[in-house]
Amino acid sequence: MSAVSLRNLCKRYGAVPVLDGIDLEVPAGSIYGLLGLNGAGKTTLLRLLMGFLHPSGGAGFLLGRPLGQLEGKERARVAYVPEQPAFYPGLRVGELLRFVGALHPRWDPDAAKRYLDAFGLPPERKVGALSTGMRTQLALGLALSTQPQLLILDEPASGLDPVHRKRYLQALLEACAVPERTVLLTSQDLGLVERTCDHFALLHDRRIQVAGPIAEILDAERRLLVSAGPSASSALAALDGVRTVRAEAHGFLVSGRVEPDALRRTAGVMKVQVLGVSLEELFWDYVGE
Ligand code: ATP
Repeated sequence: MSAVSLRNLCKRYGAVPVLDGIDLEVPAGSIYGLLGLNGAGKTTLLRLLMGFLHPSGGAGFLLGRPLGQLEGKERARVAYVPEQPAFYPGLRVGELLRFVGALHPRWDPDAAKRYLDAFGLPPERKVGALSTGMRTQLALGLALSTQPQLLILDEPASGLDPVHRKRYLQALLEACAVPERTVLLTSQDLGLVERTCDHFALLHDRRIQVAGPIAEILDAERRLLVSAGPSASSALAALDGVRTVRAEAHGFLVSGRVEPDALRRTAGVMKVQVLGVSLEELFWDYVGE
């Protein structure tokens, strides 16, 4: 079953298209990283999922229900942490917890206390007096204390120093271990996605360029250093599965879902060296830098 399922989803702001034909399946139980450059439309996509924005076209489903139609107890199964969470600044941390706890049907007070302790958040401190990093941790603690089936995080861990970031990611990874819990997060941080996620999608040019299990995708992708004269360039580019061919000192760097033997058989190719592919290299390949 998919926790999130999008079919040809489109979003325009006025006449400006931001998302155009998004197809995406986020399997239940996965930890899914949505990558993309600034302005790619990641936050827009999350806001569409939450029903804060209406799609301009296409269809989407969250926990099996059409977007914007999750209500009551079903809705309480979804927790969303925006990039800059907003709290009542005059409330103390302890008061905020009691306030949310009184409203939320899935609230776990013991978990809330554990997160406060783990993140070192003083219950007596006014929320408005917390640092940005402390508010980031408070938002995650609150979200996890509602025991979400689907946790949606926009740019988690941004603005945290290395020590607090480690604690934050530790809490997140432990929370991800709960069976049937799905986590969908956006991030600019490829390392964070590679370490925490099992699936990813890359949003670029208004579309999902590549999506699926990280290990499977990296296994199928190749980067190949090809020794060949300049005339081999167009033959290499024409091979099935080749995505990019870049000139290098003594030949070309070829990337794509292509078998090394297909390159070895290409006229003018003298030698093919197979290089590993990281998520970062794949990212650069698609965004074209
Ligand atoms: P970042 O990584 O910088 O947070 P993002 O991938 O989350 O970016 P969005 O915030 O979804 O990107 O923005 C996508 C595009 O939509 C941007 O060009 C942005 O200027 C535009 N946009 C976002 N919100 C609105 C709005 N309310 N009205 C008009 N345009 C908007």
